[in-house]
Amino acid sequence: MKLAKFIKIKQEEAITVLKEESAVIFLLEDVLKCDATTLFNKLNEEISDEDINKFNSLFDLYLNHNKPIQYLVGYTTFYGYDFIVNEDVLIPRFETEELVENILYRYDTFFKGQDLDVVDIGTGSGAIAISLAKEESHLHVTATDISSKALAIAKENANKLGVDITFLEGDMLEPLTKKYDILVSNPPYIPEDENVDSLVKDNEPNIALFGGSDGLKFYRIILENAKNYLKDRAMICFEHGYDKKKEIEDLAKINFPTAKVETIKDLEGKDRMTFIYIGGGFDE
Ligand code: SAM
Ligand code: GLN
Repeated sequence: MKLAKFIKIKQEEAITVLKEESAVIFLLEDVLKCDATTLFNKLNEEISDEDINKFNSLFDLYLNHNKPIQYLVGYTTFYGYDFIVNEDVLIPRFETEELVENILYRYDTFFKGQDLDVVDIGTGSGAIAISLAKEESHLHVTATDISSKALAIAKENANKLGVDITFLEGDMLEPLTKKYDILVSNPPYIPEDENVDSLVKDNEPNIALFGGSDGLKFYRIILENAKNYLKDRAMICFEHGYDKKKEIEDLAKINFPTAKVETIKDLEGKDRMTFIYIGGGFDE
């Protein structure tokens, strides 16, 4: 069968069971070991039985056994870089790319040209920490996680992408021993009793998802302890639940009464990030 026809049939199969048709191309890139451009140049070629079988067994796990496509192929793209992912780490989300972009933008505005110490709390696959280090060589990045299995993947990603990151294992801020200019975190923030899609809940590490009864547990811990680990002029950058703007703002003000607090919307127009500016020199 010609590749073009095969793709069409499989995309229809996905749509019929309400799954993403984009999964077909993503999986084929993996099975045929090529990028999307090469794939499109092969549309008129025959796909071999061996490749059809390989594809079908993975596609079945995606369509009928509730497996995320990223875990099946073993990687995902984040901020233009390929990150290894498996069941030990959260699959990095689009919103988090926006967090990285906003941090880089504010680095340019408020710290341009300066060497800074940055810490990413709960690094998972290392997506935030590694992207920041790749994009801005003035950022000297530390990344922490309570999960040693997650840290093993993050280390692999840092090696593969060629960045030097300091990794620390431990509970929230406990493993830190110095002060930072930027503290970033996308902690687990789903409220414990919230209904979560089974594709997420049954596959991704629950330790990466749930943030206590109100989803704010880890913001409280970070904000109550951050003073000891921040320089006089510093920035805290959070991703959070879309309905937590007010709560995070209040927590920030309680712990840093003189700080400037900014909520940033994601591309869907949701209040997804809060940046807290501590010390002076943050007026644009
Ligand atoms: N930073 C990654 C990203 O944005 O894709 C992963 C974020 S995931 C929502 C939260 C991460 O926090 C997980 O990797 C989890 O293992 C880690 N974590 C959970 N509880 C923690 C704790 N008490 N201390 C440190 N890390 C923790
Ligand atoms: N955005 C993720 C989800 O909805 C949750 C990530 C997090 O808790 N930080 O599945």
